[in-house]
Amino acid sequence: MAHPAHEDTIQLVKEIFRSYLKEGNQRQTPERFMVLEEIYRADGHFDADDIFFRMQEAGTRVSRATVYNTLDLLVECGLVQRQQFGKSQYYYERAYAYQQHDHIICSECGHVLEFCDPRIGEIQELIGRIHGMNITSHSLHFYGTCEDKKACATRKEQAGKNSLVSKG
Ligand SMILES: [Zn+2]
Ligand SMILES: [Zn+2]
Repeated sequence: MAHPAHEDTIQLVKEIFRSYLKEGNQRQTPERFMVLEEIYRADGHFDADDIFFRMQEAGTRVSRATVYNTLDLLVECGLVQRQQFGKSQYYYERAYAYQQHDHIICSECGHVLEFCDPRIGEIQELIGRIHGMNITSHSLHFYGTCEDKKACATRKEQAGKNSLVSKG
């Protein structure tokens, strides 16, 4: 389900971000729009350093501070969703024109899977009716461990390396 956003969507979210920055008298720097684009062209979830390193690898000159404060702005204006999966770290994903979905998180390696099951929507509606509430959204995370132990160990090792790099 996680696919890079459509080109039209990217143009549209840029417009939304532009007017948000304008309204708040915030600077409309190209770097901020690059961060937004990076998120909408990517798949799934990532932490702030993932975005920073990916942009750096692609040769974009953007500081870590810019990535962090742009993410805050994007969360504030509702274009990016911030999620916390168990640990203290935050994950980001695009929020506009992105299908409602839920998450399964491996507590060993931190791998995040998305799934979509219409039955969860039915439960949401039923629970709302029972409790006399108009439920409009939900956030559901399942935690467990990968069945593929080898892939899990590799990811865990990789994550350890990344956190060493980002501390350096
Ligand atoms: Zn997600
Ligand atoms: Zn795992």
